[in-house]
Amino acid sequence: MTDLRVRFAPSPTGYLHVGGARTAIFNWLYARACGGTFVVRIEDTDPQRSRGELAQVILDGLKWLGLESDEEIVYQSDHKERFVEVAHELVRRGFAYHDFTTVEELEQMRKDSQARGEASFRFKADLATVREDADLRLKNGDPCAIRFSAPPDGIAWNDLVHGPVEYKGDELEDFVLLRSDGSPTYHLSVVCDDHDMRISHILRGDDHISNTPKQIALYRAMEWEVPQFGHVPLILGPDRKRLSKRTGAASVGEFQQKGFLPQALFNFLTLLGWSPGKGDRELFSREELIEVFTLDGIQTKSAVFDEAKLEWMNGEHIRMLSDDDAVSYLREHSGPLSVSDSTLRSAWPLVKPRIRLPKDLFEDQNYVFTDPLDYDPKGVEKHLATPEILKHLSSFAADLETVTFSPESLEEKLRARCDEWEIKAGQLIHPIRLALTGKTVSPGLFEMMELLGRETVLRRINRLLKVHLAS
Ligand code: GLU
Repeated sequence: MTDLRVRFAPSPTGYLHVGGARTAIFNWLYARACGGTFVVRIEDTDPQRSRGELAQVILDGLKWLGLESDEEIVYQSDHKERFVEVAHELVRRGFAYHDFTTVEELEQMRKDSQARGEASFRFKADLATVREDADLRLKNGDPCAIRFSAPPDGIAWNDLVHGPVEYKGDELEDFVLLRSDGSPTYHLSVVCDDHDMRISHILRGDDHISNTPKQIALYRAMEWEVPQFGHVPLILGPDRKRLSKRTGAASVGEFQQKGFLPQALFNFLTLLGWSPGKGDRELFSREELIEVFTLDGIQTKSAVFDEAKLEWMNGEHIRMLSDDDAVSYLREHSGPLSVSDSTLRSAWPLVKPRIRLPKDLFEDQNYVFTDPLDYDPKGVEKHLATPEILKHLSSFAADLETVTFSPESLEEKLRARCDEWEIKAGQLIHPIRLALTGKTVSPGLFEMMELLGRETVLRRINRLLKVHLAS
């Protein structure tokens, strides 16, 4: 164990977004790679937006991904008194002040700033002036917030991802620590908790980069050791905007529901904005990622979420499972179909090379379990065009009554018949595939026939003949 301590600090105001999960993964991997500690803290200080059930959904998502907290989960709302204390301490230390500006006044200040053509409004007060009548107004019980006075010289830090970052004095504003209703703000709570939890490294999304100078200023004002900060690039959707529900699945729960393996999503998210450096290797287990993970590999550019690639990666991770694990994974995602282990076990070698998600077996390839009701119209047009082929299919069905149902004997019989009828093997293979699956592509036909068994194969071929001889 080292003193390295990292945290993942989600606000329970929404589901576990894949961007958040990726931040959690980077923190977790960094802790594991350095023998440090990973802690989860639920930032539930905003009573209007925080919801208890969402905290649970987030924790469940983290658990599913194997990102459990090494220590008891921290709930930020338990520390409210401490935050209030620190806000007052900052006033005592001369870094913060009571601010009696009303909502209306603030609005007017914003408008004035706009009228002056300023790009954005920044609240700044002269510390000496604001203190003048503060005592009197406090005694009067006038409502007030506590604001931190932005350091005039600005703030710079060496970001673990971006390198040197600087905010000049005029880019900073006086920000609220305690609202007029006495509730602590995010900046105050996050700094107090990170300090009290002895967090040494803060890895979080790029969207927090402009918060960092404010937070560093708070550490300095309290004379607390400043942790190291690293800001990881955002995840973009296919439209190159921040990934959101609008452009597809964005929450971990949705991927879990679609039947993705947690280790595949873990692998995929790690490679969004991080690269192992050498080579183009993309498939890693969690243990392998711990071995190779370094902060140097975190990119500064945003990464685009490509669900098709995640599906591919899921297929690769499925193929890494043992047969037993694959069967129980498939069973778990078989939905309303009641499929026996033995059927799954015999289907597994056939679907293994092509599966990406359980739905490939239970939806796209559900012919393994149920008779097809429709036949691909293009396949029908192409492969059932002549009456001869239906005649041959019918004769071959008669052969199937007696032939041994092994891939070798089935193939031997089919080829012998095709030679005899002077047709190509494909001319019979394609119609049989259509009859058995309704589709034009499937796993190896003879293996599939063996899997389905004589009775099913004959039933399906006879149904196709019935449908097409009648039409
Ligand atoms: N609770 C903040 C969020 O969910 C994270 C704060 C932080 O990482 O500093 O965005």
